[in-house]
Amino acid sequence: MPSVEVIGSGVTGLTAALVLAEREFSVRLITASQGPDRDCCSWWAGGMLSFECELEAAEPSIGTLGRESLAFWREHVDVILAGSLVVAPRRDQADLDRFARLTKGWTCVEGDRLAALEPDLGGRFRRGLFYESEGHLDPRRALHSLWEQLRAKGATLEPGRRLSGAELQAAPKADWRIDCRGLAARDALPDLRGVKGEMLILRSKDIRLARPVRLLHPRFPLYIVPREEDLFMVGATMIETEDRSHIAARSLVELLSSAYALHPALGEAQVVEIGVDARPAFPDNLPRIRRAGRTLFINGSYRHGFLASPALARRAAEWLLHGNCDPEVMDARR
Ligand SMILES: Cc1cc2nc3c(=O)[nH]c(=O)nc-3n(C[C@H](O)[C@H](O)[C@H](O)COP(=O)(O)OP(=O)(O)OC[C@H]3O[C@@H](n4cnc5c(N)ncnc54)[C@H](O)[C@@H]3O)c2cc1C
Repeated sequence: MPSVEVIGSGVTGLTAALVLAEREFSVRLITASQGPDRDCCSWWAGGMLSFECELEAAEPSIGTLGRESLAFWREHVDVILAGSLVVAPRRDQADLDRFARLTKGWTCVEGDRLAALEPDLGGRFRRGLFYESEGHLDPRRALHSLWEQLRAKGATLEPGRRLSGAELQAAPKADWRIDCRGLAARDALPDLRGVKGEMLILRSKDIRLARPVRLLHPRFPLYIVPREEDLFMVGATMIETEDRSHIAARSLVELLSSAYALHPALGEAQVVEIGVDARPAFPDNLPRIRRAGRTLFINGSYRHGFLASPALARRAAEWLLHGNCDPEVMDARR
């Protein structure tokens, strides 16, 4: 049985570990986190599996990875398959047209159809784009579930253990090491950078949404993802900095303004949580699998950690087991 040590328990590490455990690898997962916790970027994600909408700004490969990953998520965790909706204020309908031109997989919904999908938004927006095939999940529940599935598969789990530079430079103790340290892997991947994302969790009993909704506001584009217990994740800013120390006052104003623009009830909502982290990204904002000796680095998932990581994990497994290399995501030369 081949053995592998996976470093990191964000979504990249957990999906890699589980995919490999299911392919009969003996898996040891070492992570500085206390299991799935707020110390990793993955904790703050929206959990949108929006492989159509993201193509407004991303390369087609993100759509391919996202479609493939959805199958993994459906097999392993609770996924809500209610699609997603994109709307714009009446005066910004040109933005909606532009979004439609850049993406596929939508139907235009107006009037009663829009109101049937999202009764609380029907009267407020004239039309929207409905992406029926997309889904979403609760990222925190999903991370916990993957952790437990790994345990059930017999993987060795070592939470609360941050590997030192010397340990990371030493040869792996297993046949292979999969390094999924997110932004912390900059020591080995110097072209990795952080893109700050800020988000809020609001609670309101006065509005119901069945699916993620994006508001194409010219100054403050935002999305809202409904969660259980009247909670809504409001996200997310995109700022070229790695400073995760605080949310900027301006970002807070913008997120709340957009939420209010989507529905005034959100102006009365309880602010339950404010989150900040930095997404690991390469210069082209596309994820990569890189090889250095017996270590594979899976990193650079940018806005697409949940969207893409199961498909990346599958590609890593294919290479380890059969030498099959997908050049679109993998540099396997060394
Ligand atoms: C506000 C926000 C919203 C987002 N929304 C979405 C979304 O809706 N959909 C989507 O697909 N993506 C989304 N993303 C992006 C997604 O969250 C990231 O792409 C993803 O979390 C990156 O995961 P990762 O596992 O690579 O890194 P991380 O989650 O940061 O995990 C890194 C892990 O490595 C461990 N580690 C680090 N150093 C060491 C060490 N020396 N030894 C041992 N362990 C170590 C850490 O403890 C941690 O467990 C969002 C991001 C943000 C910030």
